[in-house]
Amino acid sequence: MALKNGKWVWFNGKFVPWEEATVHVGVHALHYGSSVFEGIRSYETKDGPAIFCLDQHLERLFGSCKIYRIEIPFSKDELRRAIVELVARNGHRACYIRPLVFRGLGGFNLDPRVDCPVEVAILTIEWGAYLGKEALEQGVDVGVSTWFRMAPNTYPALAKAGGHYTNSQLIAMEAHDRGYMEGIALDIFGYVSEGSGENIFIVQDGTLYTPPLSASILGGVTRRCVMTLAGDLGIPVREEPISRERLYLADEAFFTGTAAEITPIRSVDGIPVGEGKRGPITRRLQEEFFGIVRGEIPDRHGWLTPIPYPAGLGEGAH
Ligand code: PMP
Repeated sequence: MALKNGKWVWFNGKFVPWEEATVHVGVHALHYGSSVFEGIRSYETKDGPAIFCLDQHLERLFGSCKIYRIEIPFSKDELRRAIVELVARNGHRACYIRPLVFRGLGGFNLDPRVDCPVEVAILTIEWGAYLGKEALEQGVDVGVSTWFRMAPNTYPALAKAGGHYTNSQLIAMEAHDRGYMEGIALDIFGYVSEGSGENIFIVQDGTLYTPPLSASILGGVTRRCVMTLAGDLGIPVREEPISRERLYLADEAFFTGTAAEITPIRSVDGIPVGEGKRGPITRRLQEEFFGIVRGEIPDRHGWLTPIPYPAGLGEGAH
């Protein structure tokens, strides 16, 4: 797949051309996974691009740094401005934004705090529907993974850390090898946790259920928004442990995530979920979600940050 990257990368406070945003092979993060990151989307609206839930993502990024004792050498406000300017400079209509904070070159100690500098980069790429455009309507076939999510006292699941994604890669590769679009991992107690890069919801008798934060999930920004939208629509939402077989018995199921947006799940382990296609509540939530991010429904929760396109900016992705 050809990468449609933005022309500029924001790297440690400066805008540099994509090709020049490089690091040494000795950086700590490359060896030990000592990075934290975010995935954010900017959507096309009739009034220009708008970033979805920028502050919520920055909040989580700083939370991930706090958990891993990473002292980020920029303020939230500086990074917020850097992201807005980068999206404008790169001239994307819509894009995926990847802020990355990592421990750099300085040594191989497992306590890197003294020796390794903290570096920050922000990249943008143009990325369509993560699980395929048809998946948003047709739904995806998924399987429960043999890999579990991390035990609570091993890796801190609420941090979005680079190293945690070796677990996600095992889940995703296994799913693909078994012919599924995605895998669902259980937590170490055997309850449903999440997909390799998505949170999960099921619908039963008109109520929405999703695993609690204690089920080794990442606290998804989209998850929170969907819970809010469900509240707006009068759909009851419950965070509670979900056993595997409830996936089979659910009327509907779907993934949420910045990349996956709201993707219906039509089967689990070869068993159709409900009627084996996108259900009415999933569809209603998608309409509301996509309506807001595309600027077609008023942004009543203040989730969008519009991107100003000053003269001279917006040189286009390549
Ligand atoms: N869980 C994992 C493991 C993820 O990587 C993601 C994607 N960031 C999510 C859940 C969904 O989170 P969000 O809605 O904030 O993108």
